[in-house]
Amino acid sequence: MLFPPSDWLPKAPLERLHLDWLETAGIDVAILRLDLIDPLISGNKWFKLIEHLKAAEQSGAKGIISLGGAHSNHLHALAAAGKRLGFATVGLLRGHPLETPTVNDLQAFGMQLHWLGYGGYRARHEAGFWEPWQAQYPDLFPVPEGGGGLQGAHGCRQLKTLVSEQLNALGWRDYDGWWLACGTGTTLAGVVLAEAGDRPVYGALAVPDDHGVAQQVERIVEEAGLRVPAYELFDASRGGFAKVDSPLLEFIEQTEQASGIPFEPLYTGKALLALKQQVEAGTFARGTRLIFVHTGGLQGRRGFSPQT
Ligand SMILES: *Cc1c(COP(=O)(O)O)cnc(C)c1O
Repeated sequence: MLFPPSDWLPKAPLERLHLDWLETAGIDVAILRLDLIDPLISGNKWFKLIEHLKAAEQSGAKGIISLGGAHSNHLHALAAAGKRLGFATVGLLRGHPLETPTVNDLQAFGMQLHWLGYGGYRARHEAGFWEPWQAQYPDLFPVPEGGGGLQGAHGCRQLKTLVSEQLNALGWRDYDGWWLACGTGTTLAGVVLAEAGDRPVYGALAVPDDHGVAQQVERIVEEAGLRVPAYELFDASRGGFAKVDSPLLEFIEQTEQASGIPFEPLYTGKALLALKQQVEAGTFARGTRLIFVHTGGLQGRRGFSPQT
């Protein structure tokens, strides 16, 4: 079975985030802990997979084949879901065989791995790329890198449901907007679709401007037929996707100590630091209530040596 039974729905706690710079500015933040949805599967990549799993099940497939790098949160979530729900998974990896904590987990979860080299991986967008793989694995359903596209975004609409269900318990009647990290912008697009213009979604770009996130979001929103989307993108990349500097690492350490919540440097740490900068620049009025999405990714920070 690929698609989980309805009583197996991940629970992501929504918690107040208490940090001195938020309190000083009078901004209320609640954090949606996608890092805690399941002991094996974590983060936004699960939500991006949901509609792909449904489509795979409808097509009669027995499992999923997809691609990613040696630290891929997407492949990690996919392999964990396969183990958890009992379907076959195959991962096509960028580069040459490498042992990372992520790769060790993929193998432990039972994912079959193929290393494509760099040239072979670059060919992933070419027509005919999937043919030999589909010949080799006729029972498996192919999912694009990162689980992106409109289907990936559709699964992320659930984030709004998770928040709505927990607002009361938090003592909030409503909220004013969302703040979350963007890599491809698929997760943000899903929340934008769910809000349908009601509340703005602010995206903190973990990748530089030229990665086409704005175009990708626009394409998804258009394809879904949403006429008046409400979102805004902010640069949070600090000079490059895997670029990490000491102010960022110090900020993450301080935040972890103050909040007890773990963050990683590539997405969630950068997103929260970018929020701090906007809060301090006066972007939000006092009394603004924001939902910060903790998109997970903690598995990827093990054994990762960032570029500084
Ligand atoms: C993949 C990822 C993102 C980015 O998600 P997109 O849908 O590609 O924008 C953000 N945070 C973490 C932890 C991720 O692994």
